[in-house]
Amino acid sequence: MAKIILLAVIFFFAYSIIKKRAPKKPDHRRGEYMVRCAHCGIHQPGSESIASGDLFYCCEAHRRLHER
Ligand SMILES: [Zn+2]
Repeated sequence: MAKIILLAVIFFFAYSIIKKRAPKKPDHRRGEYMVRCAHCGIHQPGSESIASGDLFYCCEAHRRLHER
């Protein structure tokens, strides 16, 4: 009986470690995807760009210039 409890404890720890690591992957990928500025056409990471509707911009100035 003790062996079953020990296995359950090991399984629980292994599962919690896997669960902790899992959410890191999508965050890392989200920071890597490239988007194109709708005004000047420069490519840059999506996390650093300004989103406006379906379009992305490299900076606030280009967003204002394009939407005017
Ligand atoms: Zn731009």
